[in-house]
Amino acid sequence: MALVNAKEMLTKAKEGHYAVGQFNINNLEWTKAILLTAQELNSPVILGVSEGAGKYMCGYKTVVGMVNGMLEELNITVPVALHLDHGSYEGAKACIEAGFSSIMFDGSHYPIEENVEKTKELIGICNQKGLSLEAEVGSIGGEEDGVIGAGECADPKECKMIADLGVTMLAAGIGNIHGKYPANWTGLNFDVLAAIQELTGKMPLVLHGGTGIPSDMIKKAIDLGVSKINVNTECQLAFADATRKYIEAGKDQQGKGFDPRKLLAPGFEAIKATVKEKMELFGSVNKA
Ligand SMILES: [Zn+2]
Repeated sequence: MALVNAKEMLTKAKEGHYAVGQFNINNLEWTKAILLTAQELNSPVILGVSEGAGKYMCGYKTVVGMVNGMLEELNITVPVALHLDHGSYEGAKACIEAGFSSIMFDGSHYPIEENVEKTKELIGICNQKGLSLEAEVGSIGGEEDGVIGAGECADPKECKMIADLGVTMLAAGIGNIHGKYPANWTGLNFDVLAAIQELTGKMPLVLHGGTGIPSDMIKKAIDLGVSKINVNTECQLAFADATRKYIEAGKDQQGKGFDPRKLLAPGFEAIKATVKEKMELFGSVNKA
């Protein structure tokens, strides 16, 4: 099945009270692990690509080529969207050009008027090409490719203003942050989430920084209208941990254990297990 935009899968998720996972990719193993798990669990999935990861993978065209090749050669039949994560205005245009099916324009660092203006222009282009567009209101804390935010909460009225422009999905800061949560984190702000949901109605809401948010908070967020949850760091930690264990056990020095197909296998399996766990938690299993 060819890439699809994220509109239909997220509309269904919002109506069905579950969430679709966005799993960020970094290389071939990552992408293959996520796609195979989605297929095995019959779940829709969104592959996230940050601008940094896009550069690392040689550029957006390489990413599109790799993903499209896998969809065909792995016989992936579940809905898959290829989504730019935290795109700049220029990055958004480059990904539209390269063949992504979904774009996030992160204009949260612009004054709201400029965020509105640039978002409007990109909505026009995405509508014309049949792509979905995610916008962000209120910067999400932690590190987003080198930009450190403080974990603030979005203004629900600004969320409504951006939602009304016709974006497909809306990311709003509700105290969530990227990366590992600090010990003194006070949790998600469900009052703000409820106020945003109240004003934006059917708009699918996006929760960034899914790593380390306790399961009960994830479930409550889904109840309050979150239909897309971004997972990145958790797969990285699982991959690193499994790879370290393999090497510390000296397995790379036994037989042909140095073969990258063997060396990277435990990390690959660890990503699959993490994705499976998240899809089960988010409720997207058998929703393809
Ligand atoms: Zn994010």
